[in-house]
Amino acid sequence: MQTQLAESIKYTPVGQEADRILRSCVHCGFCLATCPTYQLLGDELDSPRGRIYQIKAVLEGGEATRSTQIHLDRCLTCLSCETTCPSGVQYGRLLEIGRDLVDQQVTRPISERLARFAIRELVSRREVFRLVLRVGRGLRPLLPRWLKSKVPMVRRSASVSVMPHARCVILLKNCVQDALCPAIDQATARVLNRLQVRTVVAADSGCCGALRAHLSDAEGAQAAARRNIDAWWPLLKSGAEAIVMTASGCGSQVKSYGRLLANDTHYRDRAVQVSAKAVDLSEWLSAQPVDWRANRADSDTIRVAFQSPCTLQHGQQLRGDIENTLVALGAELTPVADGHLCCGSAGSYSLLQPALAGSLKDAKLVALMAGSPSVILSANVGCLSHLQSGAAIPVHHWIEWVDQRLGGAVRDSDAL
Ligand code: SF4
Ligand code: SF4
Repeated sequence: MQTQLAESIKYTPVGQEADRILRSCVHCGFCLATCPTYQLLGDELDSPRGRIYQIKAVLEGGEATRSTQIHLDRCLTCLSCETTCPSGVQYGRLLEIGRDLVDQQVTRPISERLARFAIRELVSRREVFRLVLRVGRGLRPLLPRWLKSKVPMVRRSASVSVMPHARCVILLKNCVQDALCPAIDQATARVLNRLQVRTVVAADSGCCGALRAHLSDAEGAQAAARRNIDAWWPLLKSGAEAIVMTASGCGSQVKSYGRLLANDTHYRDRAVQVSAKAVDLSEWLSAQPVDWRANRADSDTIRVAFQSPCTLQHGQQLRGDIENTLVALGAELTPVADGHLCCGSAGSYSLLQPALAGSLKDAKLVALMAGSPSVILSANVGCLSHLQSGAAIPVHHWIEWVDQRLGGAVRDSDAL
């Protein structure tokens, strides 16, 4: 694609990065076929190629309008288009640049500003979010149906024995997951315990910054990255093997710290090293010598539908590890059509674009239920709580199911 960026941005680092990305697009349109918003709305302006054209127009000095902002807002940042694109266009990064530029020029209606502020400041602060949820749960019977589905009941599991294993990994205490479903981290700790590996949480770590990044708060996302780097650095230096992510959305974000802080001379080297140490739980487990089959607590087979989050399959390009582990532990995976399509959760998307998110959720649940599974498993807390709000069967994190198949708390201290 030929470009003529405006003089005001052409020579800046961001302008040069955007120019390089734009030039890599060859307009082929292959990405349209796998874009959920284009499939739903049928408007090229709500497709990856259409959004690229709109961002290009703004970068070339055209006027950013409220319409441009709306079409960019409707993007789920699912990155399905990046997986499909034969030219390797870094659409996600271009969208980030485009959204920032448009938001600098177009003032949002007050209701949107308030909603975005509330999500940014309430959800990404662990203690505040927990308090909001507690209040929401208390008022649940009085809430309208659509809001009630956003306030799920908390899911805990049995406490975990703390073992003094020599091997140790860091867990990120995910702000949403910790409040909504502490059972996920408890199950993770139990499974790793059986592998003779200790899990530690850095007291000063916090939200990974993904929510802020999605809401065009680049400075807030960078501040979150710096705080986590400071919190994890001493643990990494004292021998922690990896930073293990149980939410694929957070994993995607932490893996991008190196890029996020590339212009910060004080943090950039440590950011690159922290990103290199970040692994999804499935990645980390698949590198361990474990015979899952030999350690099944039950010999029965269970029909399982697995929903692979966009942040896992597109953001981190991880496919197959979880499915292999589930099968080894007795899952019969049911077919799920259009597994590459987003469920509509997408960070804060389900709160800011409820109609589109609802349509995507309905379509995803039809696909997941087609093979009559007994349980739906996911790898991201946002997806599982979004899907659970409409599902007739349980929706769990895959590690909870793995833990259960290994015997759960009953065999907590058994080594694999
Ligand atoms: S598939 Fe890639 S190269 Fe083709 S239009 Fe889409 S972004 Fe551009
Ligand atoms: S990130 Fe997802 S929703 Fe956005 S343009 Fe790409 S495929 Fe479409």
